[in-house]
Order: sequence, then structure tokens, then C-alpha cells
Amino acid sequence: MKSKIIPFIFAVFFGFFSVLEASKSPNILWIFCDDMAVNALGAYQSHFSPMNLTPNIDQIAEKGMRFDKFYVGNSICAPSRATLLTGKHSHKNGKYGNIEDFNHDQMQFQKLLKEGGYQSALIGKTHLKGELQGFDYWETLPGHGKYINPKFKTAKGLINTEGHSTDVITNHAMDWLLNKRNKESPFILMVHYKAPHRNWTPAQRFVDKFKDTSFPEPNSFMDTYQTREMAKLHNMGIKEHMKNIGDLKADKWAHRSKLLDKNIDKNTLARLKYQAYMQDYFGCVAGVDENVGRLLDEIEEQGLTKNTVVMFSSDQGFYLGEHGWFDKRWMYEESFRTPLIVKWPGIVKAGSVNTDLGQNIDFAPTFLDLAGVEIPNEMQGESLVPLMKSETPEDWRSSLYYHYYMDGGHGVTRHEGVSDGNFKLIRFYGSKTKGIDNWELFNLKKDPSELNNIYSKPEYSTNLKKMHLELQKLRDYYEVPDEEVVMVKRKK
Ligand code: CA
Repeated sequence: MKSKIIPFIFAVFFGFFSVLEASKSPNILWIFCDDMAVNALGAYQSHFSPMNLTPNIDQIAEKGMRFDKFYVGNSICAPSRATLLTGKHSHKNGKYGNIEDFNHDQMQFQKLLKEGGYQSALIGKTHLKGELQGFDYWETLPGHGKYINPKFKTAKGLINTEGHSTDVITNHAMDWLLNKRNKESPFILMVHYKAPHRNWTPAQRFVDKFKDTSFPEPNSFMDTYQTREMAKLHNMGIKEHMKNIGDLKADKWAHRSKLLDKNIDKNTLARLKYQAYMQDYFGCVAGVDENVGRLLDEIEEQGLTKNTVVMFSSDQGFYLGEHGWFDKRWMYEESFRTPLIVKWPGIVKAGSVNTDLGQNIDFAPTFLDLAGVEIPNEMQGESLVPLMKSETPEDWRSSLYYHYYMDGGHGVTRHEGVSDGNFKLIRFYGSKTKGIDNWELFNLKKDPSELNNIYSKPEYSTNLKKMHLELQKLRDYYEVPDEEVVMVKRKK
């Protein structure tokens, strides 16, 4: 009897020890894109997936976990990045839109990470004015930065580089991994690509990659916005607002000359523009995917794969022709939702899918939790680590709060809302509503493309009441001030 028990105890002990070892102070490789649509990634099983456009990014999902219901709190570049660093919604970190300064003196995860013995580096785009604080190493693009030969702000001043920004950012990240970090302590390396942001300039080797490719159009491409008055006021239509020169480079590339034909009918032109848009967008995505492969190879080369959590995400989602649009901002799914894929060997189950409601306020608490650092109460998000371990807490959130504060950019008026994954309630209150609240309710299960606003349908009155209460509950929970207070703060 004894002879069986002792090996069993040993096995349990060492088994436990090896799991502990795998989860102890893991490194974090954080790969962050700008405007990467969920639908662009093969791993998300969209209408583009059969085209196998993102094999390296998809590998992360094959070996890890895809978060299917992951969202942002304010779908625009700089506020999303402020939320990433602070773990707070815009009204708490003060970064409502792209214009205001970001208060770098406030609490941010990287300042706290040092308590866990971590070193931190951020290379690429932050879209936050001023100098980052709390990172051991940083190189950031000024503002949006340039696609080709970008300059970088560093602690030692501005530096010039040569090449496409996706390649350069990766090169610098690999250089940090190889030559600049302290190899004795764990790290978080944040690689922040500019791609695939407008005006979608691929590296030279990808300019012609999709020249003869035909991309499938989304179902809602020819949306006429019936039942959605605010959507009618958009200024982000591929057909009406995307520029042939500038956005689609019709003057530069011979294969785009058809776009300049003045006799072409409107709908044919819209479809041609969509193809050109997708060719460029996916040219940029191809560059990101290739460079993700290089980063994963470098991690492997340095023997770090086993103890590194790889996380891939974007500052928000993006419209790839859904509703006839490009850009983001709306609380509709394509821009509200953002990709999140996580690989953590030995901990995250390969090929798993998480369907809990996650939000970008969760990133900062997750980094701290991974580093074994206490999460401060003032952070509004929750650690995703239990979700990664397939151990979602029973009291995990059942709804998400959203608030977009910029008024009028691309014709999108201010709005806030709540989604519980089944129903979504949106309240538009910005200048385009002319002072009268404009509400929308969607049944996400029956109408996933959000084409049919059912706010006034009597058969949904019970759902509507519930969602109104939920919105108020979240406003209270996250301590959202009245919009008048927010507007006064923004003017300062
Ligand atoms: Ca963005």
C-alpha cells in the first residue's frame, strides 16, 4: 500500500510544482494593433476566414484562447489606450477623445508592475501626447506616426528610422528582447503597431499582394439605415466619403485608375472602392501577421515560449464595409468589439474559446495579476486570468457599459449604452440629436447585424425596461457623471 502512495504523492507534488513553475512570473508579450477588425482575423471565423489571411495570428488562437465577446468602453484610438494603461473608463482617466492631454501623473499599471519585479517596455504607437511614465524603456510614434520611415520619440530624443512602421517596430522590439532587457527578471513587452490604421499603406512587398483578389462583401454593405436616424447622419461611407486620392491612392497606382472614371455608376464605384480598401487594409494586416510570426520566432529562439503569455488585441474594432462603412466610434458590434487572443503554454487550453463579457478596462488588472501584484481598487476592470484558466468566477459581469464622447467626428454623435450580449440599448444625446435623446434597441441574437431598431416595438417592452435599468445600474457602478459635468471638464 505504502509503495503505491509515495509515488502518487510525489507525482501530485511535482505535477503541482511544474504547474506552479509555468505560472510563476510569466513574461508578457503584448501585441496591439490600431483598428484591427475582429472580422479581419481568420481565427474569428468571419466571411474572410476561408482566405487564410492571418496564419501567424491564427496560430496564437490555435495554441491558446480566443475571446469572442471582448469589447472596448469608448471606440476611438487615444481613449482606448488611456484605458489600457489605467484600467479605467474614460470618465475616470480623463481621456474622453483624441484631443485632450492625457494626465501621465495618474495611476497606471506599469508604475505598479515594478512591485512584482517586472521590467516594462513599450514600442510603437500610443497616441497620447507627452512622455510615458513608469516604463523602463519606450519608443513611441509622435501622434499617429508615419507608415514609412517613421520617427520615434525616445527618452534620449527624437530618432529617425527607415522602413515600414510595422517592420521597424518589430525590429526594435526584437532588439530590446535580445540586447536591452535584463535577462534575469520577467518582463512585459508591449508592441504597438500603427497598422492597419487609415490610410492603409502596406509595406512595398504587400502593395500588390491582393491586386487580383476579390474580397467578399459583408451582408450589410448596402445598408440604407432604416429605423436608425443617427446612422443616416454618418460621414464614413466607403461609397460617399472614402477618398479615391489619399485613401485609395488611385493617382499613384495604375491598377486603381478605374476609380477615377467619372462615368462609372455609383454602386459599381462603391464596390470598386471596397475592393481597393480591402486590398490595402489586408496588405497592412499581412505585414502585421508576418511580423507577429517574427516575434513568436524570436521568443522561441530565446527559449522564452514556455513562460511567456502572448496577448494579441487592438485599440478597437473597425468597419470593413459593414453598414457601407470604414472607421469605428459607434457602439454597433463591429467597432464596439475588439479581438483578444491569448496563448499561455501549460495554462490556457489550446484551441479554447471564451464567451464571457470582457472589456478593455480588464487589461491593466490582468497584467498586474499575471505579475502577482495587487490590483488597486480604483481600477474598474477585472483580471482575465481566471478566464484564461477556464475558471470564470460565478459573479462575473453580465453587461457592458459604453460611452463615446467625441461629437461629430465622421458624423457620429455622442452616445452611451449597455449590452448584455442578447440586447443592446443605445442612447444618442450629442449635438446631432438637437437636444432630444434618440434611443435604439437591438435584439442581438435575432439581428446580429443591428439593422432593425426595435426600441418602439411593444413586444419588446419588458426587455427595454430591463435594459434601461441595467444602463442606470452600470452608470451608478462605474460612477459616470452627468454629461453636462463631462462637457465642462472636457473644455478645461
Ligand atoms: Ca484605433
